[in-house]
Amino acid sequence: MSHTKFSPETQMLGYGYKPELSEGAVKCPIFQTSTFVFKSAEEGKAFFEMAMGKPGHEGEEMGLIYSRINNPDMEILEERLKLWDGGEAAAAFSSGMSAIATTLVTYLTPGDVLLYSNPLYGGTHKFIHHILTHFGVEVIGFRAGQDLKEVEKILVESGRADKLKMIYIETPANPTNDLIDIEMCSDLARKYSSTNKKVMVTVDNTYMGPLWQHPLKHRADIVLYSATKYIGGHSDVIAGAAVGSKEVIGKIKKTRTFFGTMIDPHTSWLLMRSLETLKIRMEAAAANAEKVAEYLSRHQKVEKVYYLGYTAKNNPDQAGIFTKQYLSNGAMLSFDVVGGEHEAFTFLNNLKHIKLAVSLGGTESLAEHPASMTHADVPFEEKQELHITDKMVRLSIGIENYNDLIWDIEQALEKVKKPLMEAVM
Ligand SMILES: *Cc1c(COP(=O)(O)O)cnc(C)c1O
Repeated sequence: MSHTKFSPETQMLGYGYKPELSEGAVKCPIFQTSTFVFKSAEEGKAFFEMAMGKPGHEGEEMGLIYSRINNPDMEILEERLKLWDGGEAAAAFSSGMSAIATTLVTYLTPGDVLLYSNPLYGGTHKFIHHILTHFGVEVIGFRAGQDLKEVEKILVESGRADKLKMIYIETPANPTNDLIDIEMCSDLARKYSSTNKKVMVTVDNTYMGPLWQHPLKHRADIVLYSATKYIGGHSDVIAGAAVGSKEVIGKIKKTRTFFGTMIDPHTSWLLMRSLETLKIRMEAAAANAEKVAEYLSRHQKVEKVYYLGYTAKNNPDQAGIFTKQYLSNGAMLSFDVVGGEHEAFTFLNNLKHIKLAVSLGGTESLAEHPASMTHADVPFEEKQELHITDKMVRLSIGIENYNDLIWDIEQALEKVKKPLMEAVM
């Protein structure tokens, strides 16, 4: 039997690294250097020509110049980052936000319309509303779960459809786990693309990637990550990534060179280490999340559990998207405690193991209060519409023993008093 292609989890251990170029070291060393020595002036000239995309060097391999442009740790990390998503290329960044900002600035110019899904990660929402709009980009939001036909109608009726340049989505939406059909976004993008304007579909895949959702396979153009989350996975680095075709990523890398938003060698090295255990970490977390969701859904002080495993029950109209687009129920869930902010805070303040912190995707479980923390900036009416209320708690489930997590949740819920005035009014 021929075995032509290794699985990504196997490739994470060595792909893109040649020990003979590093004294035979089994692991890629940290190339903590700002610049690289050329063998000759001619070689330096050729590398610069290649970096600037000048013709005459087809098929030649670009050499190392300067760590803002390229560095072995960054390059090898990028070789691996593209694998799970099945992309041709990846670009690594100093943070998720720098991946997002660099990508948006690469593809949007004054007069363009950016259509985005709500709710978005807070930093992204701020960036598009407070910075992109300053540069003359028009931004229009739609609700995750909203019918895209309806969204298209709004776009057309306002006369802005032909200015559409990018559809930017987060699916599942944070913290409600509402789903968006990537293929429908891509159909919409295609419809408003022309010979000289391609409408790009960009997916922030931080929540489910790179294992459980592969947007490129659903015709998205760009996949973005906060590698701070599952990819890093140990709550000890800030980093980001973009994955896509060679052409699309090449353009983003050019912008990155001038913004200087690339990842540093040490963080690249840490992420390579993290990628080796990515699959087992994510799978362990998802298995735990299932147990926790099950426990919460039976608890009398819990009103509702927002978990992908309950999509068919919570959002029957999104069940088809779930089946088509997801390979797991993931490890992020939210729940409404019976009561309001007081009850949610009582729960959070009484957790003994689970840490009260924002962020997600680490080995340890975290809990937070979206309405007053990650989503504090969302206007009140919008929060209500999105079900981000005072009684909601978000959990990022880690890789602990699930019995310990359930014990912790149980004892914290015990401290929550059921409000007396729940009676019919
Ligand atoms: C955390 C996060 C970001 C921002 O990433 P940083 O690494 O903190 O810059 C963007 N999108 C999502 C969905 C996130 O969870």
